[in-house]
Amino acid sequence: MRQLLLFASFVLLFHTSLHAEKKFDFATTPGKLPKEVRPSEYAIRIEPDLNKLTFSGSETIKLQIDKPVTKVILNALEMEIASASLDGKPLSRKAILLDAGEQTLTLNLPNELPAGEHELMLAFSGKINQQGQGLFYARYQEQGTNEKKIMFGTQFEATDARRMFPCWDEPSFRARFQLTAVVPKNFMAVSNMPVEQEKDLKGTKEVQFAITPSMSSYLVVLCAGELDAIESEQDGVKLRVIATKGKAEMGRYALESEARILHYYNDYFAIPYPLPKLDLIAIPGGFGGAMENWGGITYYESVLLFDPQNSSTRTKQDIFAVVAHEMAHQWFGDLVTMAWWDNLWLNEGFASWMGSKCTDHFYPEWNEWLRRSVSRDPSRRTGFPKDIAMQYDARSTVHPVQQPITTEAEAGSAFDEITYRKGQSIIRMLESFLGENVFRDGIRKYIAGHKYSNSTTADLWQALTESSGKPVGEIAPSWTEQPGVPLVKANRQGSTIKLAQERFTVNFPNPPALQWQVPLTYVTQDQPATNGFLLRDSAADLPNELPPDRAIKFNVSDSGYYRVEYDDASWKLLSEQIDRFSEADRVNLLTDAWALVQANRKPLTHYLALVDRVLKDDQLAVYDQIIDTFTFINRLLAGDPIRPRFQQFTRALLRPAFDRLDWEPKPGEAISRSFLRGSLIRGLGILDDSDIIADCRSRFDQFFSDPSAIPPDLRPDVLMVVGRYADSQTWEKLHRLGLKTTSTEEKQNYYEALASAIDPRLASRTMPIALTDELPTSRAGYLLPFLARHGERPDVVWEYAREHMKALLAKQDALSVNSFAPGLFTFFSDPKDAEALEKYARTNLPQAAGKAVAKTMDEIRFRADFKARLLPQLENWMETQSR
Ligand SMILES: [Zn+2]
Repeated sequence: MRQLLLFASFVLLFHTSLHAEKKFDFATTPGKLPKEVRPSEYAIRIEPDLNKLTFSGSETIKLQIDKPVTKVILNALEMEIASASLDGKPLSRKAILLDAGEQTLTLNLPNELPAGEHELMLAFSGKINQQGQGLFYARYQEQGTNEKKIMFGTQFEATDARRMFPCWDEPSFRARFQLTAVVPKNFMAVSNMPVEQEKDLKGTKEVQFAITPSMSSYLVVLCAGELDAIESEQDGVKLRVIATKGKAEMGRYALESEARILHYYNDYFAIPYPLPKLDLIAIPGGFGGAMENWGGITYYESVLLFDPQNSSTRTKQDIFAVVAHEMAHQWFGDLVTMAWWDNLWLNEGFASWMGSKCTDHFYPEWNEWLRRSVSRDPSRRTGFPKDIAMQYDARSTVHPVQQPITTEAEAGSAFDEITYRKGQSIIRMLESFLGENVFRDGIRKYIAGHKYSNSTTADLWQALTESSGKPVGEIAPSWTEQPGVPLVKANRQGSTIKLAQERFTVNFPNPPALQWQVPLTYVTQDQPATNGFLLRDSAADLPNELPPDRAIKFNVSDSGYYRVEYDDASWKLLSEQIDRFSEADRVNLLTDAWALVQANRKPLTHYLALVDRVLKDDQLAVYDQIIDTFTFINRLLAGDPIRPRFQQFTRALLRPAFDRLDWEPKPGEAISRSFLRGSLIRGLGILDDSDIIADCRSRFDQFFSDPSAIPPDLRPDVLMVVGRYADSQTWEKLHRLGLKTTSTEEKQNYYEALASAIDPRLASRTMPIALTDELPTSRAGYLLPFLARHGERPDVVWEYAREHMKALLAKQDALSVNSFAPGLFTFFSDPKDAEALEKYARTNLPQAAGKAVAKTMDEIRFRADFKARLLPQLENWMETQSR
């Protein structure tokens, strides 16, 4: 009894601890800087020197001081302070202390400074970086002229504004920013706000921007270069797409999308976009992805520019989705900002969800939610698929959506699949639980209540509770404050469906037990309308009865974040009725079945039998899931004698679909057919289909004289197959094409093809490119990880990386610097390699890399264990197949 009681009280304690987070309060918000000194307004002047790659700057900061202080502490990093004065009185040199470890600037005051308003003036200098940290530069070949040019831009999230100007660089220290930049006369300069005045100086010009509303420092932006713009207007806001000279017209699609999205969000949030203009800026390097700076969103070129002649439809999808994501941040993130980085998911989970919702609204034919749920070669895609987040969430190394953040490095590593994709999935699940309109009303309430201010997750739950009348604050924390993914077990007893939940884990013995409040959805064979049931406890009976011969399916349309395991009889009914279910439901059953195999809860045949039943309908997401699984197994079998037979059997499963589709598009065919063609070419190519490989090669030969030989939608896939089996001559051809093009999208296709080569001699020729200027910095930094993933010789990659680590790390930005080295180990499957990584990390990596190291070690050990389990099962399966 005693033990039982103890256990019960532990469970109670645990549950109450889930409601610990408080609503936003500036004074108690975590952070390093003392809260009694607050900036209210900055006037910053920056003068870059693009020859020396340095800059000088000065700033005047209006301060609000709450109680008397003897020192002022703010952030500064990798800069020198030339002078400091307070209220017009200069401080002595020895009163100015920079601490590189803490990334702070401390000003020791000669006298106590009384409460009230004060003014701090600083003069400083720093450097322009090659990677996207602080102020950075990008070198590029100009469109049309092919001249080498340089531009500069900024990337401040999470903690790098302090590299361009000393500041209170924590999100809750909101202030107004007024920027001035001195740039060459032929440059266009862009910032958060419109240009207020321009003044000619000797040989340069001074551009002054209007002052911003109150905002966080990580959202400040400054870009300049030989740029062009196209513009339009929507709902009274001036919209522009800005790109390097000669490329602005390729921003036409993004500009049209921007207008539609702005109008949609103005309506959704019920607060019109608050700034007078919104620029989308394409940068040809320096950083990857996109950044939601208020009023001046920066993008890596290939997620903003669309060339109707040469860009693929996937690029178009990515552009729309990324623009929709970043624009959602203009409200959710910029107008209302998370108080601290432990709530980063609020920004990213919400913007990911909102971006997908908006994309699905304008392009239902793209099946955005399905596109976001399966993991078709995630390395090429923007964002992380939901299933990848769920796979990671089952491991021992995972963290909750809300996690404590104390250091700059932790803030940088918080941008992962859990923050984005689990965050998005939770929001989607909550929306469907509360209802679309009730949820939207809660969001409107939240934005209106916190505009020009900060918030925590608790504030969002509060607003949703008020709008819905449901206890959101009780349901939601089990998803955000604890790690892990629930497994719901459905067992029939007569006509009753008995439900139970437990923690779903993979490669994680004796995990701490957890419990969730799961908003279940389900359909039955008799009642196709979706039902809901909130599973609050560890076990419950489903309220409605169901005759024993009727099928039931949970997690309708794959919209929930949980796995389901059915008893054998229910699973049999379900697989026999598979034709009744939608593509999303089939994908949901496939991903869960495959996860149960990974978790050693079901044999491999549990998954493969389902595969057999779903192949005939040629559905894109279904095939993507299957191809992804086969590719994963194929990779695991590299070097194993069983591999050629495995390839033969899986080709036999996939090939009929390709034969039905064939190379030539049918007139008027749906876009999903064209994507499926690409997926099959890639999948069959990887599985060594000799016809497909020969066809890819001959199309590549024709491509030189006739680019239409490989339509844009198929280029990434065909070139990848060509690159994978390349000989030295083909490698050179691909390389020459890559060198010649000025399109970042095409460059990416060619260099990824180079980095797909499985011949280690070619890998050795590809790797040194990472250290040259051939590719934009962010892409160059990505070359080795890509090769480790696709090239099959991670040992060769690691050997090279180890020798050149310092130079390679110099190309990584703040978000990837700590995971770069461990990431190269992900594709090993021998426990010895996990030990090698641990040993390397002990002497060579900073403590901040610890989480990434642990995550990779777990992955290697999982792969080793899974391979050992899989081999005999594969033998058996192939045996029965050949009978
Ligand atoms: Zn984002």
